[in-house]
Amino acid sequence: MKKTILTGIRPTGNLHLGHYFGAGQNWIKLQNEDYDFYLEIADIQALTDNFDNPAKVRHNVREIVMDMVAMGVDPNKLHLFVQSMVPEIAELTVIYSNLVTMARLYRNPTVKTEIAQKKALFGNSGESVTYGFVGYPVSQAADITAFEGQLIPVGEDQLPLIEQCREIVHKFNTIYGQTLVMPEPLLSETPRIKGLDGAEKMGKSLGNGIFLVDSEETVKEKIMSAVTDPDKIHKDDPANPEKCMVYYYHKLIKNKNINTVCEECKAGKRGCVACKKELIEKMIEFLKPIQEKRKELEENPQIVDDILIQGTEKSIKKAKETMKKVRKSIKIDYFNEE
Ligand code: SF4
Repeated sequence: MKKTILTGIRPTGNLHLGHYFGAGQNWIKLQNEDYDFYLEIADIQALTDNFDNPAKVRHNVREIVMDMVAMGVDPNKLHLFVQSMVPEIAELTVIYSNLVTMARLYRNPTVKTEIAQKKALFGNSGESVTYGFVGYPVSQAADITAFEGQLIPVGEDQLPLIEQCREIVHKFNTIYGQTLVMPEPLLSETPRIKGLDGAEKMGKSLGNGIFLVDSEETVKEKIMSAVTDPDKIHKDDPANPEKCMVYYYHKLIKNKNINTVCEECKAGKRGCVACKKELIEKMIEFLKPIQEKRKELEENPQIVDDILIQGTEKSIKKAKETMKKVRKSIKIDYFNEE
């Protein structure tokens, strides 16, 4: 029996190199291994902190699908689906909400950190935080269990969400009988990709990333403003490439010339402007096949719709099977659902 993997992404913006080298490469690896793989576009979860901008979330569902397929996600090898199109997830969320205390949700370190980061939306001390946002780990537990997810690819910072899901599963199975599948985290080696500004993380909202859809002009502007070794003042000063984001990106996209970049930089035989121009050229080359594939999808929106409809149909089938078991266990299976 194949093991089931579930993971997801919030449709809040286009994908950047952080997604590509972080989650994306892992998805592509996993889709080629022997798993039953569900990849969710978590639009309902995106609404928990974008409830005032549903148009943005809607627009980004299709954008994300195009980005993912262009980068190599193959909808024939996994189930790519939209969360809101599987109503069983919402139903499970309501059922699980009886099994979690508010105090436990507030103690979840991931939720705490996110509330603190979203002061503009939730207030300085989180006084305006919504029930939906605090409860999103419950909705995630529903995502995972609806598809009987066994392995959940996560980074260290998301382990508390899996722990919370495991508690819900344990409580459900203890009260109502063995029904739900217990998930395990699958700690992925997904590296955290640094921003062009040297920040530890490339972020959609931080303005420090290169997006898969960026035009040549945008790539040029962004790379020309990337942070270099601050101690290199003159063109022929020797520098330390390890302190330079331009070098970091040369390495990231596997510039074959990387050893020369490193040696010339250390020896003061390379100016930063020339070095950035080389990176711009390589970056445009790197993005080209992704953007060409994406263009095909932009010109054929029906392909994107078909991907979503087919992936979602398969996912609904699985979620309905789980829902039937859950209804039976909690004795709300009043009529035969065949
Ligand atoms: Fe960075 Fe290149 Fe300048 Fe060295 S020469 S500091 S690697 S941009």
